[in-house]
Amino acid sequence: ALTVGVLALQGGFAEHLSCLRKAAAHLEVKFNMVEVRTPEQLATCHALVIPGGESTTLSLLATQSGLLGPLRDFVKVKRKPTWGTCAGLIMLSEEASSAKRGGQELIGGLDVRVHRNHFGRQKESFVTDLNLAFLAESLTDAMRAPPFPCVFIRAPVVDKLLADNVEETSPENGADFQSLPSPATNNQTLAQGSKIEVLGILLGRHASNKAAAAAETARSVSTKGDGDIVALRQGNVFGTSFHPELTEDIRIHLWWLEQVVHASMK
Ligand code: GLN
Repeated sequence: ALTVGVLALQGGFAEHLSCLRKAAAHLEVKFNMVEVRTPEQLATCHALVIPGGESTTLSLLATQSGLLGPLRDFVKVKRKPTWGTCAGLIMLSEEASSAKRGGQELIGGLDVRVHRNHFGRQKESFVTDLNLAFLAESLTDAMRAPPFPCVFIRAPVVDKLLADNVEETSPENGADFQSLPSPATNNQTLAQGSKIEVLGILLGRHASNKAAAAAETARSVSTKGDGDIVALRQGNVFGTSFHPELTEDIRIHLWWLEQVVHASMK
């Protein structure tokens, strides 16, 4: 059996556990889903989810519980599959634009900068359908990837890539990287040495870039535009700005558990 942990210091861990259990029921492999609050519990895990919540609080609680070092080791040295949603994505980024000097400690792993609270306050929360082409990779859901209902709550977006090894995405992802802020050319900054794969781009009226916002709907995949990056992967680290655990749609949890299975077979 594979043990999947959910960091349970704060935030939406119960919702993730419930989605993971539902998704696991579709797979042959047996899983143990566990709440992680101590380094000992983390040590039993093959993979980890870091939920949404509030990243400054998460960071403080991780430091106080002696988990920050073990979490960095888990993600960046042992390179175990780790998925962060919202505040979890912030924790897994190398830089957060609003982190004060000497303030928020991050785990890192994704060579990106995130912009916290990109869309504003709680009342600016929204749900939008996004086309997530990577879901078609799913073995159990092969070739069928209807738009995913993405819940954004005081969400961050990735506003800068710190590595120059970004994977070219296929046209159906609707991404155009020409117009992204140019990444640092210094490979020394690479946390992972793996390519950054942009897996989800926000288009439509919520996008901050005019061209992307002018795209008719967030699900129009043919429109080229530099929308906001809201899902990405770099090696073992996966991040989403939005909250799949707050929907009935378990496809992302299923897809990620499949990645965990693949990683365990290497
Ligand atoms: N705004 C929060 C932060 O900066 C994240 C919000 C969330 O996880 N829903 O940490």
